[in-house]
Amino acid sequence: MTIAESTPEKVPEARGVFTPELLDRCISCGFCLPACPTYALTGVETSSPRGRINLMRALETGVLPDDDPTVSEEASFCLGCRACEPVCPAGVQYGELLEEWRDHLWNGRRRPFKVRPLLWAVNSPRRVRSMGIVRRHAGRGSEAPGPVNLMLGCFERVLYPRVSRAARELAAELAAPSAQGCCGALHAHNGELARGKQLAKELGEALPGTIVATSGGCAAHLAGVLGSDRVKEFSQWLFARDGAAAATPADGRPRIGLQDSCHLRNGLGVWREPRELIARVGEYVELPSAAVCCGGAGSYAIVRPKDSARVLDQHLDEIADADLDVIAVVNAGCYRQLQQGVKRRKLRTRVVHLAELLAGEK
Ligand code: SF4
Ligand code: SF4
Repeated sequence: MTIAESTPEKVPEARGVFTPELLDRCISCGFCLPACPTYALTGVETSSPRGRINLMRALETGVLPDDDPTVSEEASFCLGCRACEPVCPAGVQYGELLEEWRDHLWNGRRRPFKVRPLLWAVNSPRRVRSMGIVRRHAGRGSEAPGPVNLMLGCFERVLYPRVSRAARELAAELAAPSAQGCCGALHAHNGELARGKQLAKELGEALPGTIVATSGGCAAHLAGVLGSDRVKEFSQWLFARDGAAAATPADGRPRIGLQDSCHLRNGLGVWREPRELIARVGEYVELPSAAVCCGGAGSYAIVRPKDSARVLDQHLDEIADADLDVIAVVNAGCYRQLQQGVKRRKLRTRVVHLAELLAGEK
């Protein structure tokens, strides 16, 4: 047979759903499997990072259609915790792939119903401001931006207004302008990537200079759009300002654990700072699953409450076993998730944001 007679193998055309360099990077080694909380729940390959990347590839090449049930299920079952990133030898940026996946899949009518009102609520800066109007957060009353500005968050200013007050007690130099909206993380993680980036840019204009965020998820998203020189998470910023302080005597100090924020730890690489800060005011207790997602995961606890509770269970067991006085959090979603879990189990442990803990507000 001559070369002309041979039929070349047909290479499937890319559909342009994913950035090719991101999708091509996975070498299918499987190092990420033990780090994945959803794989730990099911033991099924498609619920692992490698399995999901293979689904993305099948979607990209048209081998699987958009409405394939496994594709839909796994795009939603994934926590988006990015625990698969730091363990990956090939540097796969899974978080970005997931954003592109949901941006394609959840565009329009396929977006989960429960997510829609959340996105609507935080879509307009005016709406976000009015949501927090009756709450006593740090940004009440108009204030001009300064060289370093505190981000008030969207749901955090409504649900946990004490957090921003505590942050300002600890750092009076933080300006807290009221004229600021949402950072766009919720949009970016739930199928509206362009809007999520636009909201982050608008927030960057409203808060010129350095932005300090008390929620790890917001800090990671904002840093991804505006750059990590401009955006700092609160513990990161406070630790850089103060350094390690002398610990108080051990006797009678509260036993305090930490729930890492996934995006703070896995996205920004910040995990040591909150631990060092906790050690200033209590005996720090490292829980075995401190670095593992608590199941809050942004909108996940609302969209998939049963899976979210299954992921949380292990954390509650560990908190109970360690008989903690306090479990500290550095993200609004973890705050809500752990508060509800601790209440449900009737544990004596208090759930407190790190800023509140350091300011002695609770
Ligand atoms: S995502 Fe990374 S760790 Fe997981 S299979 Fe691919 S290359 Fe390996
Ligand atoms: S983001 Fe989290 S849940 Fe999703 S594949 Fe990675 S480790 Fe698993």
